Amino acid sequence: MLHTSYIELSKSALNNNLRFMQNKIKANTRYSMVIKANAYGHGIEDILPMIEEYGVDHFSVFSAVEAMRANKVKQDKCDIMIMGWISDESMEWAIEQDISFYVFTIDRLNAACEASKKVKKPAKIHIEVETGMHRTGFCKDELTTVVEIIKKNGKYLEVEGICTHYAGAESINNYKRIQNQIKTFNELSTWINDQGIHPKYRHTACSAALLAYPETAMDLVRIGISSYGFWPSNEIRMNKIIKEYDNQDPLLRVLTWKSEVMSVKIVDEGEYVSYGTSFLTNRKTKIATIPVGYGYGFSRNLSNMGHVLIRGKRIPVIGSVNMNIMVVDVTDVADVKEGDEVVLIGTQGKNTITVSSFSDMNNSLNYELLTRLPNHIPRYIVD
Ligand SMILES: *Cc1c(COP(=O)(O)O)cnc(C)c1O
Repeated sequence: MLHTSYIELSKSALNNNLRFMQNKIKANTRYSMVIKANAYGHGIEDILPMIEEYGVDHFSVFSAVEAMRANKVKQDKCDIMIMGWISDESMEWAIEQDISFYVFTIDRLNAACEASKKVKKPAKIHIEVETGMHRTGFCKDELTTVVEIIKKNGKYLEVEGICTHYAGAESINNYKRIQNQIKTFNELSTWINDQGIHPKYRHTACSAALLAYPETAMDLVRIGISSYGFWPSNEIRMNKIIKEYDNQDPLLRVLTWKSEVMSVKIVDEGEYVSYGTSFLTNRKTKIATIPVGYGYGFSRNLSNMGHVLIRGKRIPVIGSVNMNIMVVDVTDVADVKEGDEVVLIGTQGKNTITVSSFSDMNNSLNYELLTRLPNHIPRYIVD
């Protein structure tokens, strides 16, 4: 092992999740796999070809930088859509490469026209409308100007989509707000149509929206977290698993994170372990070190709290998680030795460490922990 840890990406798990989510949409609804934030920590370059091989041919990213990375590895027939940040300079590149992007301010709409004139090719744009999330998107009263600009610049703008994003479809607390958003979106989308503009894709759904409000699927869905095998929230998970899947989780985790034992030694009773005084041995303790710390995405908040798997057993992290090393207590596990496999996320024997078991202790979501996994950890594809 050259690196101090590595990530395995399971092809069969990915295929399983894509099949599961695709079964929730109609045949004429397009599936866009969201690969922003380094494909939720999985690695854009590593996972994109696996997704293509399954048959998905549309990718959504947040920024032009991510689009550039995806564009380098994707096949010609696949499309890329930028849902967020793109500078005026990058717009020309995007247009040249047939990459579509969201437009949510008048300035950007004008910039798209200018870029199109320079490149001599229409810009493929998605009109993002404000429906109640209050982040980005055109409000109703701006849309008149938007329509005027689009009509005046028909040669330069191809309105490929009209879209919005829900403010927390994964929680029942937001039920009313989501209902209002759906209603507002339908009104705005109808209004745009009435003005003679007919976007090919009306799209609003993320994983949670598709699972909880199937009517949000429309012409294209933007699915991230569930494709990777995680539920958008425990609420959706329990609702689906218990009610519809007979307690069997239909999603499978794509990612496994592994390392190995770096050293093993005995510490006497009454000694502090690692930096500071947060862990005092109350017995003669056998400790193992693992060459992974917060510098590799294993949160410092898991000091004295996290667990790893060694020889099939759940082992507690003791003391503080350091930048490059953590210490675990292996007193009760016979025969632990240097080079033993350590599972940081994943299954070993009968035990599993899920990302959400991490996050319960760490007070953050699957999303956050996954995206903290650094890109420098090597990724390997397994079945
Ligand atoms: C991240 C994101 C998604 C995907 O959300 P998931 O919960 O991961 O499915 C969809 N749309 C937009 C605009 C996003 O930013």
